Amino acid sequence: MSDLDSRPGVSLSSDCPARAAQPVLQRIAAREAVLGEGMTIRRALPTQLRRMVGAWCFLDHFGPVDVGGGDGLRVGPHPHIGLQTFTWPLEGEILHRDSLGYVQPIRPGQVNLMTAGRGISHSEESPRPHPARLHGLQLWIALPQAQRFCEPAFEHYPELPVVERDGFRITVLVGESLGQRAPTRVYSPLVALDIHAGRAGGIALPLAPAFEHALLVAQGRARVADEAEALAPGTLLYLGCGRGQLALEADADARLLLIGGEPFAEEILMWWNFVARSRAEIDRAIHDWNAELDFGAVHGYPGERLPAPLPPWLK
Ligand code: MN
Repeated sequence: MSDLDSRPGVSLSSDCPARAAQPVLQRIAAREAVLGEGMTIRRALPTQLRRMVGAWCFLDHFGPVDVGGGDGLRVGPHPHIGLQTFTWPLEGEILHRDSLGYVQPIRPGQVNLMTAGRGISHSEESPRPHPARLHGLQLWIALPQAQRFCEPAFEHYPELPVVERDGFRITVLVGESLGQRAPTRVYSPLVALDIHAGRAGGIALPLAPAFEHALLVAQGRARVADEAEALAPGTLLYLGCGRGQLALEADADARLLLIGGEPFAEEILMWWNFVARSRAEIDRAIHDWNAELDFGAVHGYPGERLPAPLPPWLK
C-alpha cells in the first residue's frame, strides 16, 4: 500500500508518549478513510498516541468490502525506503508488481514481504477477474540502521505455521510463538500472530516480557482479561511491555492480530512512504522518485505512478 493521503502527516517516533515499561491497556482509535468503491481503511499506526510497537511502524486494516462489480484495489507504482512491507490478506486476492521484476499474486494464508532497503517501487491491484470480497492487513516494519540501506528484496511465503489450540487457529506470521517459528525474514526481534476463533471461547497466549505488544481486532469482537469492554475493529489496544501472557476471550469467528517487538531503539522519521532518520534523506527520496531516478520501474500496472507530495517543511 501507499500512504494515499494527499497531505500525509510527519511521524517522528520520539514525538509521542514513551513506550510503557509495564503492562498497560491503552485504547487507540484508528484513523478512518474511505477510498474508491467504499473501501474503509483504518490506520492504527502511526497515530498521535502511538508511533511504533517494536519495529512495527504502520498498520492499515482495509475492508471488508465488496469489489465484485468494480476494479477493486488500485494502488499505482510508488516508492519505499528504509522499511519492509508485510501484506496479509484475509479475504480476496492482491497482485503485487515491483521494480525487481516480481509479479506475485497473494491469497489468504500467504505473506508478501518486501524489503525496501535503499529503495524499491511497487504497485498493488486486484487481479482481473478477482473475488468479490477484499479484506486484509498491511504493516510496515522499520529497518534498523545496519540494514536500512540494504539491497531491495522481495519474498513470497505461500505457507505459515499454524497451531490449533483451545478452539483457536493461530498462524505464526513473524517470530516465534507456541513452539513454532515463522519463516519470514525480519531484522529486529518481532512477533506477529493471526488469531482466529473457531468458536466462542478463551485462550491464554504466552508473550515475551521484554517485548511491547498491541492487539487489533479485524473481525468480530474479543476481550482481554481485566477489560470489561469488548474490542471491535477500529481500535488498537496497546499492551505495553512486561507481560508473560495474554488471556483473551473471543466471539465465534473473531479474527485478531497480535503484534509485538523489542522497543525500537532508534528514532525514525516517517513521511509518506519513506522511513528515514532526517528530512534531508526524505527530500532526496522525493526528488529521486519524482525525477524517475534510482527506484527502478514497475512494468505492467494499468495506470499511472503516484507522485510524491511535498512535505510540510518544503511548503
Ligand atoms: Mn507500498
